[in-house]
Amino acid sequence: MTTTKVKHGFKLIDQQSLTEIKSEAFLYEHIKSGAQLLFLQNEDNNKTFSITFATPPTDDSGCPHILEHCVLNGSKNFPAKNTFTELIKGSLKTFINAMTYPDRTIYPIASTNDADYFNLMEVYLDAVFFPNIYHQPEIFYQEGWHHELFDPAQDIIYKGVVYNEMKGAFSSPEAVIMRFNQQIQYPDNAYRNESGGDPEAIPGLTYQQFLDFHSKHYHPVNSKVFLYGDLDIDKALQTIDAKYLSLFDRIEQDVAIAPQKAFTEPVHASKSYPLAATDSPEGKYYYSMNFTHGNILDAQTTLGISILNDVLMNSAASPLKQKILQSNLAQDSFSMVDMDNLQPTLSLIFKNVKEGDIGALDSLVMDELRRLHTEGIDPKVIEAAINSREFGLREAQMGGFPKGLFYGKTALNTWFFGGDPFLYLRYEPLIENLRSNVDKAFFEKLIAEICLNNTHSSRVTMIPEPGLIEKSEKLTMAKLKQMKADMTPAEIDAMVDFNQKFLDWQQEADKAEDLDKIPFINLSDIAPEAESYAAQVEDLKDFKLIRHDLNTNGIAYVKAYFDLSHVEEEDISWLSLYTFLSGQLNTQNYSYSDLANEIDIHTGGVGVGLSLVNDYQDPEKIISKLVVHGKATLPKTSKMMELVTEASINTVFNDPERVKQLIRELKSRLEMSIMMAGHQVAIMRMLSPMSQYHKWMDLASGLGMYHFIGSLEKKIATGIGEIIEELEWIQKTFFVKENLIISITATDEEITTALPAIDLLLAQISDETYPPNDHGFTAKDFNEGISAPVNIQYCAQGGNFFRKGYSYSGKLKVLNNILRNEFLYQEIRVKGGAYGALSSFSLSGFQYFCSYRDPNLEKTLDVYDRVAEFVRGFDCSAKDLEKYIIGTISELDMPMSPERKGAIADDDYITGFTQADRQQIRTEILSTKLEDIRSYADMIESIMGNHHISVFGNETRLQEAKDLLAQITPVFQ
Ligand SMILES: [Zn+2]
Repeated sequence: MTTTKVKHGFKLIDQQSLTEIKSEAFLYEHIKSGAQLLFLQNEDNNKTFSITFATPPTDDSGCPHILEHCVLNGSKNFPAKNTFTELIKGSLKTFINAMTYPDRTIYPIASTNDADYFNLMEVYLDAVFFPNIYHQPEIFYQEGWHHELFDPAQDIIYKGVVYNEMKGAFSSPEAVIMRFNQQIQYPDNAYRNESGGDPEAIPGLTYQQFLDFHSKHYHPVNSKVFLYGDLDIDKALQTIDAKYLSLFDRIEQDVAIAPQKAFTEPVHASKSYPLAATDSPEGKYYYSMNFTHGNILDAQTTLGISILNDVLMNSAASPLKQKILQSNLAQDSFSMVDMDNLQPTLSLIFKNVKEGDIGALDSLVMDELRRLHTEGIDPKVIEAAINSREFGLREAQMGGFPKGLFYGKTALNTWFFGGDPFLYLRYEPLIENLRSNVDKAFFEKLIAEICLNNTHSSRVTMIPEPGLIEKSEKLTMAKLKQMKADMTPAEIDAMVDFNQKFLDWQQEADKAEDLDKIPFINLSDIAPEAESYAAQVEDLKDFKLIRHDLNTNGIAYVKAYFDLSHVEEEDISWLSLYTFLSGQLNTQNYSYSDLANEIDIHTGGVGVGLSLVNDYQDPEKIISKLVVHGKATLPKTSKMMELVTEASINTVFNDPERVKQLIRELKSRLEMSIMMAGHQVAIMRMLSPMSQYHKWMDLASGLGMYHFIGSLEKKIATGIGEIIEELEWIQKTFFVKENLIISITATDEEITTALPAIDLLLAQISDETYPPNDHGFTAKDFNEGISAPVNIQYCAQGGNFFRKGYSYSGKLKVLNNILRNEFLYQEIRVKGGAYGALSSFSLSGFQYFCSYRDPNLEKTLDVYDRVAEFVRGFDCSAKDLEKYIIGTISELDMPMSPERKGAIADDDYITGFTQADRQQIRTEILSTKLEDIRSYADMIESIMGNHHISVFGNETRLQEAKDLLAQITPVFQ
């Protein structure tokens, strides 16, 4: 529809109803500046705003990423350099961040509070259009990079937040191969460049180039504004127009990305990736096959590729995935379709491959693709993949993120390239069309187009190189040493002088009048009542039923909690392995492929998990449960319960070959998660010598689990029989009726309808009873270093405050907010150059600090030692304290899906946490005083005095600090 309606400088250019997402969509163009704006009007109170700029990078210096960090450090109307952290600590946001993509930079916020929403929107618009970067070069040095030198006798080093963030990001081999694939597939356009920044190229970026990039790209004509939710659109358009867009005149600008010309023949490329100096490279190659096809504006083909990817690789029934697993040519394989690019690429990635097997692996994949193309794909697998996608789109859980964020991103996929923003939001006709084309061999033809007859493809090998990190660190150091040697004494003095002045600037507090310009809501706008989560417990014959009466859009969420009070510590890793294997093996009534298809065709997913929590009333006590869960639309509940039972209890473990293959795959998945989350490893290993809960968590999902799987893998060849016996024993021993809890989330009426289906599960459960185990636990002092092929650290320190005579209070949450966004932020990120710092005080009495992607080690531990002193002398205005309180509340008031609410209420019941406890914590937060904060100084001093530390990091750095560590454990053994 075309209309000439103009509102606050915006011309409406399109209006449509989007039934799938219950929204009315309005597309506007700002007449004077050329900006485009999309508004999705609906009843969602979690309002979202974002502004996106096209920022295709011209090199690997990470200019778009550095800019993304820098613009949030103060602007014309909000000049405080800590503006962004002020918002994090003091607003009611439900989301606030900024993201650099390969071709664009997105600045999104969300809030359920009207005033807060408009505040955040304005601060963000001011930041992107009028940042202080032009007259405060220090912002660039801090967030990007600079030469650090405080003493003429010392060595020069590189410092900068993005610099260290990317060093950490590049520590994951998966990240390296994905980035390299992109470089190979798009050699002639902007996608070949690393928008995040290659640590080796970041120091090549000059301040002037950085400013020029902003001037060129951050113009309204190059932007897309997105508004979502139940908001005052008139006020929004007026603000955006009057204060921002109307100040710009439309300019001629073309930053559009030209499509990559297809290759005339497939390309081969290779690159090294780092292993620890002592690791053997044998069998550690990565191999990847990449296929670029079509255009994001062709939704039918692109969605087709994405679903074909699920069909081929993402389910236990996936034919290609099965073929690869059975071949043993790769210990792990996964695939992805990049839907954020102009031209989508399907990448198949193989991990832990022997060099000599690469050729055979490639042939195996191509042969299987050819076979599927000629013989056809099992239509059940396709049906399963389409249904599963559709369920996800309808349920729209979005991993707990605001829905608006996801819809905005989906609109941008096409809108960004000048296409129809609604193309993928109207998913029903797309899905229907795919479904109706299954018979016409649509997916088989797609295989030929993408993989068999496509020359725009590549084969990429990543070669493991022990000691590569050390080598590249040495090169960097040598380069800087040479640079210093070439400098005159006067130049060296000037560099020291620069660093001193820079440090002064960093330490200089923002002026009160500048901070006051950042708008905040008042404490009186906060509801004093804590949210309650619907739960009604009924004692039935065989179990306790928890009803969560919530509107779930016709979906029933069912969970069965099996009591594990008879578990022993040595069973924990076995149970975790059990949960991984469930659903991936044949069962009594289904083959694993049929089971996987049935699950995707009839349900939104079923699974088994391990739940570990501390008793709220008796925090030294651990409560463990085996959780069986499933979700489906109401008419499918019986089918779901049948499948839940099959997947959890009726698994047939006696399939030695497949169990072996899956154990190898699990080992690789654990390696991946450990390398991506070094901070979690450090925290868990620091707390596990003094906490049974953390020890068990480590055994279930951390380094402890990885080492357990590593030892199983070593005896797999001879001992598979014992492994299978153990799994069968778990199956017999832990699915028992005693103390069984079942929870259902749906409307009360729906719960009653769904209830009889539970009998399908009950019929399979043993009546056996076992005496509970008394899990004695003795805390000990043990400081561990975990060495990994990385060139940054994650430094954790902490302890237990209950054991120091303190109790839990909501005030600790406010303290946590202060520490994270004030002291730790300032010392570890701003001054230390780390990407970030975490801190936590848990309900069960545990406390930790942990740095993230940190170039330092001892220096960070020194910072922790100074926290108590900071807390003791902490001072701020009444208004500032109010901000800290509001920011703390925002974490509690995140909007949640019905499924999540049900899960929280389950945990409450299991741990003995009551609504009165929740209310007390909220009241404590709201009534926090300065004296309360200061009163925790002794507690922190006492915990830090015990020096419980753990560091995940670079081997050389750990060796230098070995006096602090009882042991240095190599991460991969
Ligand atoms: Zn970043």
